[in-house]
Amino acid sequence: MTARVLVVDDLPTNVKVLEAKLTAEYFTVITATSGAEALVAAKENAPDIILLDVMMPEMDGFETCRRLKADTETAHIPVVMVTALSDISDRVTGLEAGADDFLTKPVNDITLFARIRSLARIKRAIDEWRMQEETYGQLGVSGQGGGLDLTDHPTGSVLLVEPDEYVAERVSGVLEEDGQTVSCVRTSEEALGALTQGFELVITSLYLEDSDGLRFCSQLRALEEYRTMPVLLVIEPEEVGGLAKGFELGINDYLVRPVDANELKVRVRTQLRQKLYRENLQENYRHSLSLALTDDLTGLYNHRYLTAHMDTALRRAVANGKPLSVLMLDIDFFKKVNDTHGHAVGDQVLKEIAARMGRSIREFDTAARRGGEEFVVVMPECAIDVAANVAERLRQVIADTPFCVGDGQEVPVTASIGVASRQGDDDAPDTLLARADEALYEAKRQGRNRVELEPGANAQSGRVANG
Ligand SMILES: [Mg+2]
Repeated sequence: MTARVLVVDDLPTNVKVLEAKLTAEYFTVITATSGAEALVAAKENAPDIILLDVMMPEMDGFETCRRLKADTETAHIPVVMVTALSDISDRVTGLEAGADDFLTKPVNDITLFARIRSLARIKRAIDEWRMQEETYGQLGVSGQGGGLDLTDHPTGSVLLVEPDEYVAERVSGVLEEDGQTVSCVRTSEEALGALTQGFELVITSLYLEDSDGLRFCSQLRALEEYRTMPVLLVIEPEEVGGLAKGFELGINDYLVRPVDANELKVRVRTQLRQKLYRENLQENYRHSLSLALTDDLTGLYNHRYLTAHMDTALRRAVANGKPLSVLMLDIDFFKKVNDTHGHAVGDQVLKEIAARMGRSIREFDTAARRGGEEFVVVMPECAIDVAANVAERLRQVIADTPFCVGDGQEVPVTASIGVASRQGDDDAPDTLLARADEALYEAKRQGRNRVELEPGANAQSGRVANG
């Protein structure tokens, strides 16, 4: 997988060296030589990852990173700080500023490339959710995704897979002190069993009694429910060369022994924070989706969804050479219901109609409220005579049992239904709906509480008489 990388360093030589290396690996490289330039470049070029120098005049790397992470447009772009600073407190400062990793020069190239690919892969998944959110934003339903809140203190339950009892005790002590809940197991088998209890993060040692951390990680990734579970790998300093493999297998982050308490805390928080961010995006998406496509009152699909769905359903019907029918239903004298009983009762009638419709159609039919007291059912692979029968059954289901509303009072309700079916391969959603509408109008004209087929519909199926 290739990626677009923004390289930021105040020394042009450093930029050139990294640019050459990355280009040789088929990454696309964009460069900036100051923090301010980086902020602009990140917005304009939408890179997949940012490699950020720490020591820069004016705005240093820490501040640049903080600003990138605070901005909704750039918060989701992974940042790797690459620097000659080796002090542990600098690493922690970098991670606290929102960096996804902090690599100390000289960086092993293989590890760096693998790290870039792994972070870019995680970002791609987030991009998809962001794109969905944008689409729904354009539909007039605004998403609420924001920047990463670096001042929060996310906590969660952590599964620690560590055979060494002393290390396990120390690590869980540090994390518990930071507000995390920790469960310890010694083997990958125990870990796979324990996972069903629900964890937000897995920390695994590379060495396990029955397996190794990488094998365990790939087992985890093979299971649908743990595909996005954050995994932190703990390695010995001499095992850093193996990290590339780890990133390839899907680890999210790593720690080198002896594990520094502050670095452990902040890396765990970063993973938990990103998990929350992803979940928020998904939740926003689902929320936007339901707002954008369904009718609040009845829970049926709305006009917007109907339009898109009719298009797809019609195209599929043409491609498969199958029939497609639509019912258009309108409640008779609905204005009178509202005038006599009030709008609350009117709303209850609409809801009850939706419920009765839902029970009368097949599960692959689509019912939508088109607006007001008008409803549409789209019926794939359904010829007009079958659709006419369904319409007649629906008419009866509405007319035969009065609607119970409010305090036990019963309101008689009837509906008129028009039926139309696709004709030829050039039929369009609009014309199909217009013919159903025409049939509906005919049903009204003929005295209501009845089903009419579109003009010129197959004579042998004929007009369905009032039951
Ligand atoms: Mg510098």
